[in-house]
Amino acid sequence: MYERLVQKQRSYFYSGATRDISFRMKQLTLLKWALKKRETEIVEALRKDLNKSEEEAFLTELGPLYQEISHMKKHLPKWAKREKVKTALSHVGSKGHIHHEPHGVTLIIAPWNYPLQLAFAPLVGAIAGGNCAVLKPSELTPATSSVMSNLVKEYFTDEYIAVAEGAVEVSQALLAQRFDYIFFTGSVSVGKKVMEAASKNLTPHTLELGGKSPAIVNKDAKLDLAAKRIVWGKFINAGQTCVAPDYVFVHKEVEEAFYSHLKKHIKNLFDEKYEQLQYPKIVSERHFNRLLSFMNDGDVVVGGKSDNEKLTIYPTVLRNVKRDASIMNEEIFGPILPVLCFTEYDKVMERIREGANPLALYVFAENKEVQNQLIHGLPFGGGCINDTIMHLATPHLPFGGKGESGTGAYHGYESFATFTHKKSILTQSTLFDVPVRYKQDKKTMTIL
Ligand code: NAD
Repeated sequence: MYERLVQKQRSYFYSGATRDISFRMKQLTLLKWALKKRETEIVEALRKDLNKSEEEAFLTELGPLYQEISHMKKHLPKWAKREKVKTALSHVGSKGHIHHEPHGVTLIIAPWNYPLQLAFAPLVGAIAGGNCAVLKPSELTPATSSVMSNLVKEYFTDEYIAVAEGAVEVSQALLAQRFDYIFFTGSVSVGKKVMEAASKNLTPHTLELGGKSPAIVNKDAKLDLAAKRIVWGKFINAGQTCVAPDYVFVHKEVEEAFYSHLKKHIKNLFDEKYEQLQYPKIVSERHFNRLLSFMNDGDVVVGGKSDNEKLTIYPTVLRNVKRDASIMNEEIFGPILPVLCFTEYDKVMERIREGANPLALYVFAENKEVQNQLIHGLPFGGGCINDTIMHLATPHLPFGGKGESGTGAYHGYESFATFTHKKSILTQSTLFDVPVRYKQDKKTMTIL
């Protein structure tokens, strides 16, 4: 079944239809228009799947997508132009150009936590690059997957863009095909399987994975603001965000004060939402039970309550968490925040270096030396100084992990670069033939 789909897309790709820049621009406009037309349906689907509020749906799903499309449309004509490079003395008479070529037929596999954005943002890159695409959304958010599938069917032909709904078997069946590029967003364990599948045909790929992203709060940090930004970044979408601060290291001297700021901001930002049933739910019973099992890994400072029927967990902060507790050994991906205290930076750095490379890291400090020591002394994908999450919400910064937290990056120009191949072409003159290369004279070759 998918073999035919891929063949159909490959024939369409080789017809040349997707290469034209004005065609790509039109498709980007169409995608934005289609999203706008279906906004109500999308918001409703996100509410059904994750109990996202309308404002959160705009803030974290539709808004970033509109921004990504507009940014791409603004720059695509310039980015897609062939680039002229300099000519080396040894190549006199020739011209060198870099052509930004589409890969061909691409596969985009998406997770459930931002089900619309994480499927369509890579699609923006695929369209801009001049590719065809098969999207595989998550089975855990079926309402959003269905809206995406209907939208794509209504506005695009399946020889150009298709959505394959379904669970693991669908993903595996797709991965068994020969694609020209694979863009995967999801867990580390599945990322390894995707890489293995890609290796069969040496298919180039991007892996946007997860992991444990720490926030470090120095004693000179503006504590109230640090707590507010950590609370927002951690508990938005009920902590189900790949770059949410997974845990916090706070300097011992400010630990007690930090808890009271956390308490205040959780109350201000999330109390009413939770009470009015406007707070996102945990995606499945399995994840809900996994998260509840973490509650005993420390002492509850804030929160601790949950609702088995609605699958909601109130934003919770834990202290006195042991290093070997299970909450410290897997990605939390839910609204539970362990806080650990420290006195020496070297120990914090040693501990972070021992683990897998975080996807994100957040430093809260006024002291520039401390900021630099942490930012440059630790391996991680990207992050913020004195903020959380915001580095991924701009098309001007490439977003991606490092090693265990991912391979490659996207957003803005990086999406265009990801979904194109830099093809170097040298055009040689036929008016004359410089004899130097035929001589194989050591002296001349050294001069060149
Ligand atoms: P997941 O890896 O379980 O699933 C992701 C996709 O892979 C889904 O479409 C799923 O159907 C498919 N899949 C699952 N098992 C598969 C298998 N054995 N073979 C092939 N395909 C398979 O991830 P998830 O639970 O949907 O998402 C949560 C994870 O994603 C977290 O680890 C989170 O940190 C990460 N994430 C990363 C980013 C990022 O941009 N780096 C963004 C969001 C989520």
